[in-house]
Amino acid sequence: METLWTRTARNQVLSDPVIPDAVDVAVIGGGFTGMTAARELLIAGRSVAVFDAGKIGAGASGMNAGFVVPNFAKADPVSVRAKLGDERGNALLRLVGDGANAVFRTIEEDGIACDARQTGWLNPAYGAASVEMLQARAAMWRDLGRPVSFMSAEDVRAQTGMDIYSGALLDAEGGTIHPLDYLRGLALGVQRRGGSVHEDQCVDSVKKDGTRWRLTMRSGATISAAKVLLCTNAFTSGVASRMGRSAVPLRVYQIATTPADAATVQRISPDGRPVGDTRQNLFTYRLDRDNRLISGGMAAIPFGAFERLGRSVAERLSTELGLPNAVSPEVVWTGTAAMTPDFLPRLYKMGEGWFGGIGCNGRGIAMTAQLGRVLARAAMGESMDQLPIPTRTLRPLPFHSFTPIVASAALLQARLMDKFVK
Ligand SMILES: Cc1cc2nc3c(=O)[nH]c(=O)nc-3n(C[C@H](O)[C@H](O)[C@H](O)COP(=O)(O)OP(=O)(O)OC[C@H]3O[C@@H](n4cnc5c(N)ncnc54)[C@H](O)[C@@H]3O)c2cc1C
Repeated sequence: METLWTRTARNQVLSDPVIPDAVDVAVIGGGFTGMTAARELLIAGRSVAVFDAGKIGAGASGMNAGFVVPNFAKADPVSVRAKLGDERGNALLRLVGDGANAVFRTIEEDGIACDARQTGWLNPAYGAASVEMLQARAAMWRDLGRPVSFMSAEDVRAQTGMDIYSGALLDAEGGTIHPLDYLRGLALGVQRRGGSVHEDQCVDSVKKDGTRWRLTMRSGATISAAKVLLCTNAFTSGVASRMGRSAVPLRVYQIATTPADAATVQRISPDGRPVGDTRQNLFTYRLDRDNRLISGGMAAIPFGAFERLGRSVAERLSTELGLPNAVSPEVVWTGTAAMTPDFLPRLYKMGEGWFGGIGCNGRGIAMTAQLGRVLARAAMGESMDQLPIPTRTLRPLPFHSFTPIVASAALLQARLMDKFVK
């Protein structure tokens, strides 16, 4: 699918033609999670091969909007501790809180050209109740030593040009990237360190082979691996099926407009901060390196959504930001995000040395930088009890194929609720 990112990417990856006979670790899924895990394992001296069913970037990692946000979309520090207990909760909070730094550190260490800007992430409060919620949330993150503050309505107006907000949470470690260039940069780093990357290799089965595992691709190719990592997110093809069905797939539409003029940029994004507000039907925007506005949304009714969403997201941008000339989408694209039922990431153990991880819940860039590292630690033999992401028994959700209908109903309800916010 053509996206803003495929049009503007500067990094290119060439798939390795020869699949090795055997590796220490086989990674299934070449998105951020798989590539980060592979990078970590190679740095630790393991041999690694990464397999993707499509091209690198075919999944959510190539389709996302490039907002780097080191927190949870639907949870805060108190609810995480309530669910996991203080010790495990704090371990997960520290991990997630360091997610954006992990992304920007990797970019710097590997010299990845991907328009990375750690400008901070702005989370404006819509309605009085959100002010209290965000002030409390900012304080909780500060208690964990993170640079999270709350700014006044006046300051948020100066940052967005919008006067509907009552203040905003500012997470100083957030920012933006060109996601496809970041992903391809990670893949190039894997290859540079001696790992191999194989496109168009859907893994259909992973079977025990003595003390090792044998992976079989749809192409008929096979490989033997001591350890296997499943990093296939919301996908349900081949061996990804069970894990993919343990999460709710959410179809998200993104648009990029024609470039905004200098006066508009100065008014709506003077410091280049990505914005995502607190509405249930949330409003987001950021600029790319050419000052195109990037925003997104979801469709309550899937039929004809691609055309409709492109237009409606552009209209929303024009109205909310008071743009002097209505903008139109230059490119529209769509991808599928994975939401877990408790909105937290999770690890699965499918056998001895056979692990999976999922659940970035809309905060995938920062979260995958950590999920990939944690999966690498599992493959290097660390006990699951010691890892900072909770382990669950892998159970596909009942009625998984109907979950998009529930998501559509939730979206309609969210739009209605926003109308009553004061
Ligand atoms: C439209 C959209 C916008 C988003 N915007 C943001 C954002 O701005 N900020 C943010 O933080 N998060 C965002 N997200 C979420 C984020 O992109 C994801 O959480 C993240 O990319 C997940 O990475 P991943 O590596 O786990 O999965 P993916 O990138 O989905 O990779 C999984 C890979 O597995 C491969 N695969 C599947 N089955 C098999 C198989 N059997 N064999 C081999 N390979 C297989 C697929 O081809 C795919 O490439 C967005 C998501 C979407 C869809």
